[in-house]
Amino acid sequence: MANEWNNKEYVLEQVQEDYTNLEYASPKLKRDIDIAIEALRQGGLDAVNYIDLKALQNRNFLLAVLKAVPELKEEEDFLYSMPAISGNLDIARALFKPVEIKIGDINLVLLSPITEDILRSFKENFKKAISAIIASPLRKFKSVLKGHLILGEIQDITNIFIPDEDSFENIEAFYNGSSKKVVYNQSFLYFSPNPTHHNLVHEYAHKYHHLILKSSPLITQLYERAMLSESECELAQLPKIGDPLSDITESREWSWKVGSSEHYLREVGVRGYVYIDSKGDEIILSKKDILNRIKCPSQYGAKNEREFFAEMCVLITFNKVKPSQRLIANKFLEIVNSL
Ligand SMILES: [Zn+2]
Repeated sequence: MANEWNNKEYVLEQVQEDYTNLEYASPKLKRDIDIAIEALRQGGLDAVNYIDLKALQNRNFLLAVLKAVPELKEEEDFLYSMPAISGNLDIARALFKPVEIKIGDINLVLLSPITEDILRSFKENFKKAISAIIASPLRKFKSVLKGHLILGEIQDITNIFIPDEDSFENIEAFYNGSSKKVVYNQSFLYFSPNPTHHNLVHEYAHKYHHLILKSSPLITQLYERAMLSESECELAQLPKIGDPLSDITESREWSWKVGSSEHYLREVGVRGYVYIDSKGDEIILSKKDILNRIKCPSQYGAKNEREFFAEMCVLITFNKVKPSQRLIANKFLEIVNSL
């Protein structure tokens, strides 16, 4: 006698009676779309536990389920039960009808109603961000300018995105790594003190970091160096015997003064820092001279390497690098452009 739990009609009947009966069905029938739909109709989100998880994470399977059981959209925990669909716009389009606007190669998706004025000003800011990214000395930055930019009220955002980190509370904008989308919380547009185009460039910089660079040990080293305190930074950078003068003389102006031959630190004493070249020519610098040449940037407002990366991109792209940040910014540019 054949096992009745392999029989689709039999299982369908059992599930209609009690969705938890799906537990006994064969693996193949746990992936069956008709049976899944029936189970979700009967049990709502609880039925998810009995359906094959891989099947549920399949976009077409899920879309068919949503079409057949639209009540599921009302379930608050729907997205959380299936994290693999976070940020999937096909699902969003099945849940509600977002407005989509093409701007260059980017599709701006409006999840929520928005006033004409706010939308116009957001678009202007977005165009400013695009122009800045295209003109940025970070040569490959412009490659992030495609895909979807999401704008909406927080409740609509949480309908289709699971935060990468703790929560969306008080977050004006974020980059969602799993769906590779930049998302903007539109309620901030009514009162935010932060310039929107800076925020957009910051979030696109996260995308740049994620898509193009992943993790680079050179960026990690640079971050660690930039985050040293002022005094640690000075100590770490004071020249040691044998160091070339060019280590602390990065500017063109200074190397012109020094001439073409390389000087090395011979001694540190009452005369100061004595550099000497192969012909015996000396250059003597006081400790004050040296400290003036060591640039120790202490403030980037960065709480981790990813934020440091994004802020550096903003500073460089908008040409807002302060003199004290110049050294780190130049190294940053050199590293990123060589990758
Ligand atoms: Zn950030």
